[in-house]
Amino acid sequence: MLQYRTIPVTPFQQNCSIVWCDATHEAAFIDPGGDIDRLLAEARRLGVKPTQIWLTHAHIDHAGGAGELAQRLGIPIVGPHPGDQFWIDGLAQQSAAFGFAPAVPFTPTRWLYDGDSVQVGQETLQVRHTPGHTPGHVVFHAPQIDRAFVGDVLFAGSIGRTDFPGGNHQQLIDSIVQRLWPMGDQTVFIPGHGPESTFGRERRSNPFVGGT
Ligand SMILES: [Zn+2]
Ligand SMILES: [Zn+2]
Repeated sequence: MLQYRTIPVTPFQQNCSIVWCDATHEAAFIDPGGDIDRLLAEARRLGVKPTQIWLTHAHIDHAGGAGELAQRLGIPIVGPHPGDQFWIDGLAQQSAAFGFAPAVPFTPTRWLYDGDSVQVGQETLQVRHTPGHTPGHVVFHAPQIDRAFVGDVLFAGSIGRTDFPGGNHQQLIDSIVQRLWPMGDQTVFIPGHGPESTFGRERRSNPFVGGT
């Protein structure tokens, strides 16, 4: 079975999730934006072995720790979609602008595309490309436990910002309606910031996408 634990990291309280296969204890970090020592301590406490890093998008609070973590553990970085290359290239400027420690530069070992899947241990998650917040944003869907890790696409009661370079409001709405809603009302999503919710609850009550 797939298990996960979410740890808010960085001054932006970004939700980094450690997901693992409880048959093999192999684990992936989704969006290790920073606080690497805390994340490694948590992995040790859980008794899991990190083998990969998965990125939803390349904003500093999500991707800022990926290079250092990959270097320290010798593990691959998977994702996001190549549409976020310019955000990866700009990580140094993002670090400076937001007062983060300088990010270790990296090139993803593997880019992700709509319809791809990623695997940790014996567990498979589906990848959807969900542009709008950033052009190369992806989400990870685990239908076997009715969970989706959606980064900054959708939040409980809100949606991702689209006022950054490459942001596009209509694209974001389309991503939510066409790529998240089909995962089902019962699906619990883990957003990049704040508490979990379900797609059904957001369809009913989210002022930005309610009734879509
Ligand atoms: Zn973001
Ligand atoms: Zn964020």
